[in-house]
Amino acid sequence: MEYDYGIIGGGPAGYTTGMLLAQKGKTVIIFEKDKLGGTCLNKGCIPTKAILHASELYRETLCSSNIGLDISINSFDFSKVIEKKNQTVEKVRKALELAVKNSGAQVVYEKAEIKDKNTIVTQTNEYKVSEIVYAAGSAPKELKGLEFDHKFILSSDDVLELTKLPKSVLIIGSGAIGIEWARIFSNFKVEVYLSEIAEHLLPIADIEVSKRIERLFKQRKIKYFLNDSIDKIENNIVTLKSGTVIEPDFILSAAGRVPLKPDTEDCIILGDSCGEIQLAHYAISQAKNFAHNIAYDKTLIPSVIYGEPEIAWVGIKEQDCTEDYKKVTLPVTALGKSWCDDATDGFIKIITKDNFIKGAHIVSKEASALIHEILIAIENNITVDELKKISFAHPTYSEGIFEALMRI
Ligand SMILES: Cc1cc2nc3c(=O)[nH]c(=O)nc-3n(C[C@H](O)[C@H](O)[C@H](O)COP(=O)(O)OP(=O)(O)OC[C@H]3O[C@@H](n4cnc5c(N)ncnc54)[C@H](O)[C@@H]3O)c2cc1C
Repeated sequence: MEYDYGIIGGGPAGYTTGMLLAQKGKTVIIFEKDKLGGTCLNKGCIPTKAILHASELYRETLCSSNIGLDISINSFDFSKVIEKKNQTVEKVRKALELAVKNSGAQVVYEKAEIKDKNTIVTQTNEYKVSEIVYAAGSAPKELKGLEFDHKFILSSDDVLELTKLPKSVLIIGSGAIGIEWARIFSNFKVEVYLSEIAEHLLPIADIEVSKRIERLFKQRKIKYFLNDSIDKIENNIVTLKSGTVIEPDFILSAAGRVPLKPDTEDCIILGDSCGEIQLAHYAISQAKNFAHNIAYDKTLIPSVIYGEPEIAWVGIKEQDCTEDYKKVTLPVTALGKSWCDDATDGFIKIITKDNFIKGAHIVSKEASALIHEILIAIENNITVDELKKISFAHPTYSEGIFEALMRI
């Protein structure tokens, strides 16, 4: 049999493309060498958020006297947190496997390679296809001198399999992965050191967001080092270029991911393999575009960093604005709901130009949801004046968007 599409990789890019094409009546075969769901479901988005959730609950329980409750934790076994994370991943994967099956796409669990533009080979078979989609994803980046030994120098994959918490950890890199793991470990009372080569934490973010994260990390006693990197490691003792000496139980190297590229140009490349924006929802947007011709705007892919408070942004950043932009920053202390939730650290910043929103940067509880309100407005050319007409429910964090816009 010849298939319409052969897809290498069963992550968000591959399975979304496969399901959408199969639903259109195309014959689709997906090759997955490991587990359906890819990095996102098995080693990324879902497992980290499951562990993060447990860690947030732990931290909040320890601080429960702040809100008048006196709760104590009787026992704590980190291996159970990992067990629960594994169960969560399995549940979500089972649902995905069923959805892919129901779509009509076929899955082959084997490593696949492109032989030529119409042939995919695995160890056991050869498959004829009209078109090949390459969605093999990415792998943790190994820095020179910091190669993963999976004992002292760990990758973001390794750290998901820990069954015991370390006493202290050194994290390299303050991108999304570094920040989220710094929060997880710190919530669990692990001593966290974080080394960032750039001038600020989360250097991909708006400058005001970076500075707020620095303040939050200081409050949480996360020791971070800016403009710094590893000078040497001797007997598991790390010396940073600044001269700081750290003796962590291990290093989590979270300095980015390398796209896995095909050897040929005779295929469509989607998702992390493209080496562009390495986010699951970007991979899904690309898949929708390829399978259904649904357009997306690369400049309007939202970013979210999880943990309390959440961080989310889209569009232009303060450091890239020229004079004709207006900006307003509303502290979340202006919102009654933040006081009710004991979550007053954060802000909603909106950048506008000619009555249209051009960017938003939010550090707040529920920021991951709020950013979509902004996105819907930008995508649909809704003006600031039109947004002001909306009745935002009270008390909510959404009110903050209205309050901020009223101050422009
Ligand atoms: C710790 C961590 C946390 C993350 N958190 C988030 C988050 O909160 N939100 C977000 O949007 N993104 C997050 N990401 C990024 C997200 O996981 C990726 O952007 C997304 O998984 C990319 O999807 P993909 O389909 O391109 O690749 P992948 O998900 O990597 O899937 C590629 C698949 O291809 C398979 N494969 C590779 N080569 C072959 C071959 N030759 N034959 C057969 N199969 C092959 C792999 O086994 C894999 O299953 C996170 C990543 C990490 C590491």
